[in-house]
Amino acid sequence: MSFYGLKGQEEIIRTLQVHLSSGKVPHAYLFTGPAGSGRSTTARILALSLLCLQPDGTKACGTCPSCKMMQQGTHPDFFAVGTKEDPILDEDAREIDVDRIRKLIAAMQEKPLISSRRFCLMAGAERMNKQAQNCLLKLFEEPPENSVITLISTGQPALLDTVVSRALILEFKRLPVHLMEELLRPEANGDENLLMTAIAYADGIPGKGFAFLKQQDLHDVRDLAFKLWTDLVKGDPREMVNQSRSLEKLGKEKKQTLEALLDALAVICRDAMVYAGMQDDSLLINRDKKDMIIKYLPKIRPASMARAVERTEKARHELGLQGSTPLVMEMLLADLKTLLSSSGKTASGYG
Ligand SMILES: [Zn+2]
Repeated sequence: MSFYGLKGQEEIIRTLQVHLSSGKVPHAYLFTGPAGSGRSTTARILALSLLCLQPDGTKACGTCPSCKMMQQGTHPDFFAVGTKEDPILDEDAREIDVDRIRKLIAAMQEKPLISSRRFCLMAGAERMNKQAQNCLLKLFEEPPENSVITLISTGQPALLDTVVSRALILEFKRLPVHLMEELLRPEANGDENLLMTAIAYADGIPGKGFAFLKQQDLHDVRDLAFKLWTDLVKGDPREMVNQSRSLEKLGKEKKQTLEALLDALAVICRDAMVYAGMQDDSLLINRDKKDMIIKYLPKIRPASMARAVERTEKARHELGLQGSTPLVMEMLLADLKTLLSSSGKTASGYG
């Protein structure tokens, strides 16, 4: 495990390597970005290097007692909060409360047992309630010597400004298509359609792409999304009734598949928008399905396509919030039909 394997986040890796080689390591980091973008992996590599007893430059040796204990998950100077390894509060916990933070602070204030530092990785830091964050602030204001805490968060709005301002923020970005292709290709076993679907679904987030490739039942979603796209653009009312019913059924049985379908549909709409603007197929994610995208292009206004992307992403978000699936889908299909269909003016009830 080294920084070498982390593609697409070179700027962040350079920053961390400067900290490691100079020994000037901040007491608090905040890694933000979408889940699956490599935040936790990076924090673990940082911990490994910082705690290693005989690092080779900025790289952990992999063989010393510290490195071995890190691999076994038994390092006495490494503390995970809100992850699988956390004995108090696991990854599914909805909230990180003040008690958990008090226990963390007590642990971080102890002298390191085998390494030269104590390291904490807190996953889902946005789950800390206000009281917990105010408590953590005490640690940030008077950090124990040689302690490093890394907060992993999807975004900052849930975190207090006072917490954010005391941490060094490193923002993990979505990766461009060519890097996603490079990363995911070896996992797709030569199946080009599957690879393109994974790239479309992952939307620049490697972790999402790898997860997709492991889940067989998600593999057909891109074909389904293209079917839906074609039906929407054609605006065939009978097909739309069928679509509406089958999606409702899908949502009841396999919500995750429905979510993946909406992700794939949003990418198709975005591809259509990009192609309408630039006429450059190298920018398309669904490059291999270019024909299906451009076939209906002239009939759709660019502004409508932009709104279709937004609308699909909004529905995807609503599904994630455990909204009523049939209602979310029904409203989405009605809106998309109006936006995309050449006969959209006649959009009226179906099903
Ligand atoms: Zn080592």
